[in-house]
Amino acid sequence: VKANGKSGVRIYTPDLDLERQRQQDIEDQLRRALRADELEVVYQPIVGAMENRVVAVEALVRWPRRPEGELTPDQFVPIAERSGLINQLGLFVLRRACEDFLDVEAIKVAVNVSPAQFRDPDFERAVMRTLLETGFSTARLELEVTEGYLIDHPQRAAAVISFLKTLGVAVALDDFGAGYTSIAYLQKYGFDRIKLDKSLVDRVTIEKSTGVLVAGAIHMANALDMAVTAEGVETEEQAYVLGLAGCQRLQGFLFGRPMPLGAFLAMAAAAAPA
Ligand code: C2E
Ligand code: CA
Ligand code: CA
Ligand code: CA
Repeated sequence: VKANGKSGVRIYTPDLDLERQRQQDIEDQLRRALRADELEVVYQPIVGAMENRVVAVEALVRWPRRPEGELTPDQFVPIAERSGLINQLGLFVLRRACEDFLDVEAIKVAVNVSPAQFRDPDFERAVMRTLLETGFSTARLELEVTEGYLIDHPQRAAAVISFLKTLGVAVALDDFGAGYTSIAYLQKYGFDRIKLDKSLVDRVTIEKSTGVLVAGAIHMANALDMAVTAEGVETEEQAYVLGLAGCQRLQGFLFGRPMPLGAFLAMAAAAAPA
């Protein structure tokens, strides 16, 4: 039996060793993949609820060429966060997205920022450098952050967010409704946008209490000058209900899956009025 900081005491078993070894292997493979430029970025369309056209994309990382088999970001991002590789990974995605969309001026670009990146004291400078070097307009960039770190390190988080806002970069609170976000938090950080978590969107048309909750959250956000994006929209009925409730943007498989840049540009061209 070994002491363990998180859960008190845990039973030592070969399985845990195996799992630790697996994570270490993935970490090493990821480090190599970053160096060899083997990660890719795909883009999921985000539509305006009123305009009914693509107004933005969310950049999402992919690791398709891993020899041992592809892993999803849910599988390797947490490992990147624990090992510090997330700084490199996050900046890679940011730079690639800025380069890819530099000339696609009508489209805003949302990039995920892991709260673990805030631990890097050089984070702000690195973001600024990326924007300067790519020439990407700060007004077209939106960074999505999740709440975990905000709660543990409120001062650092507030400093980073206010710096980003000074640059003119919009900041969105990701996965709203999945955790414990309190209304006080929303006010304190001055987010430009909240992204309603898929778990709420999934139930919005089938559970009355969720419908009421979501409508209230959208109303509250808008009253606090925050726009709302619903994620994980899969049905026309969800899109209709969320649009009616005042949601500004909709994102989900109903409108398009994450896709490589080429496929996105072809789709956008096909949708453009002749
Ligand atoms: P997220 O930021 O909440 O991203 C949305 C996820 O929901 C994406 O999964 C997307 O493909 C999926 N999704 C969107 N619409 C639908 C839908 O209608 N139905 C279903 N079933 N799923 C939908 P993905 O790309 O696998 O990413 C998972 C998570 O991994 C992301 O959740 C984010 O937390 C993390 N992640 C992905 N790329 C990055 C990145 O570049 N940096 C960081 N820090 N995290 C990333
Ligand atoms: Ca390690
Ligand atoms: Ca996101
Ligand atoms: Ca999300």
